[in-house]
Amino acid sequence: MPHTPHSPTPRPRARARRRLRAAALLASAVSVCLVAASAPPTPLGVGDRLFPQLGNPGYDVTAYDLSFTYSGSNSEPLRAVTTIEARTTADLDRINLDFAHGKVDSVEVDGDPAAFTTAGEDLVVTPEDALDEGDWTRITVRHSSDPVYPEDRQGGWVRTADGLAMANQADVAHLVFPCNDHPSDKARFTFHITAPDGLTAVANGLPTGVEHTGPTTTWSYRTGHPMATELAQVSIGRSTVLHRTGPHGLPVRDVVPTEHRAALEPWLAKTPDQIAWMERKVGRYPFETYGLLMADATTGFELETQTLSLFERELFTEPAYPKWYVESIMVHELAHQWFGNSVSPATWSDLWLNEGHATWYEALYAEETADKPMAARMKAAYGASDRWRTAGGPPAAPKPPKNGSKTGIFRSNVYDGAALVLYALRQEIGPAAFDRVERAWVARNQDGVATTADFVRLASETAGRDLGDFFQAWLYGEKTPPMPGHPDWKQAPAAKTPAKAAHGAHGE
Ligand SMILES: [Zn+2]
Repeated sequence: MPHTPHSPTPRPRARARRRLRAAALLASAVSVCLVAASAPPTPLGVGDRLFPQLGNPGYDVTAYDLSFTYSGSNSEPLRAVTTIEARTTADLDRINLDFAHGKVDSVEVDGDPAAFTTAGEDLVVTPEDALDEGDWTRITVRHSSDPVYPEDRQGGWVRTADGLAMANQADVAHLVFPCNDHPSDKARFTFHITAPDGLTAVANGLPTGVEHTGPTTTWSYRTGHPMATELAQVSIGRSTVLHRTGPHGLPVRDVVPTEHRAALEPWLAKTPDQIAWMERKVGRYPFETYGLLMADATTGFELETQTLSLFERELFTEPAYPKWYVESIMVHELAHQWFGNSVSPATWSDLWLNEGHATWYEALYAEETADKPMAARMKAAYGASDRWRTAGGPPAAPKPPKNGSKTGIFRSNVYDGAALVLYALRQEIGPAAFDRVERAWVARNQDGVATTADFVRLASETAGRDLGDFFQAWLYGEKTPPMPGHPDWKQAPAAKTPAKAAHGAHGE
């Protein structure tokens, strides 16, 4: 929640009043409770079509304070304390948090012990006093955070050769810490990571302190902007933190395995120019810092964790990947800082706004710096688009993830299939109007949450005409509409080898 003020002290008096009101209401048999106290605890959600039980109704989180204590072994659970500051948006007898895969030792609500139980992947907390709509509340959960997962439910800790990193997208932040695990509820984050000396811990945002105590060190970080739970990052390892300067003095900070520092440096040196390139396209970089976290792990993807994108080291050290391709993937994750991070999707069906734009700037960078024409890539995407829609659904109405699928909702329909929608828009309204849409989108929605309908509205307003039918066909059609300006583009039969090849293997 971007515009809510910072965490004031909770108001116990308001809650005492609620108890009286609840008692009075009993007499008239009217309940304003979201969940009646007598009903069994059940997992709740905010109604996301793709992940029905993610997030929870009844409150907005304004701040998370996460403390992790790492033993030095990435196969042992971390000890953790998660403190959540939230404002209720309904009267609540119970507070559902998303949390699974950790053991809960205790829960406090506004300093008082609270009862808790588990329902599905929710931690259901019952405070001694019910909460009123509009109350500020502070929930403290002492728990473990286990980096070892069953095969069929992976994430969000990633075990690296020398420690841990995090990859929570889309639906596994709550397998790390209790939270309201949906991008529609953004909040400020503070991190305290305690690790044995010799290890370095880094998280989103900028450092606020380092404290040595005996054989351990506690590293603290704070985000300067609201962030979705899916974008949290905590890195613990034998790392070196490298500093350089981006446009307008932006602090650029990379985290690399110390032993691979020299080999990675030529790639890291490219970031400031890539940020400057993105700024020329869409405007000022939206956060207080940026950099790459090079994880010594085989993830099969990269991830745009806010201010500190996660990359697998192999992408940079495996000679099979061409230089232009690696650079375009770097720009993909960088572009997400505007598209997906600063402007978050309101629901996971809006994912095409993240991935379509990140793919768009990835492809545009390759066109401008490596002579890889956008039109050729988009023509190929056009040829595959109907197949992608059949497999994964139209770009703005993706099919739910299949159980046990590693791809989840991250299919070609929301990558090149969605960049194709942006290409069609540029063809339809012209490059100048398209650029205005892009700049206005990130400026208007900075630090916020936006929907597909918001994008359609902005594009129509910018173009000076109603583009509703155009977007309806391109975003929701089972078949791909004709491409404006390219009547010769046709669906192509499936190639023998998947068209995804080099692309799609990387870049969430
Ligand atoms: Zn992406």
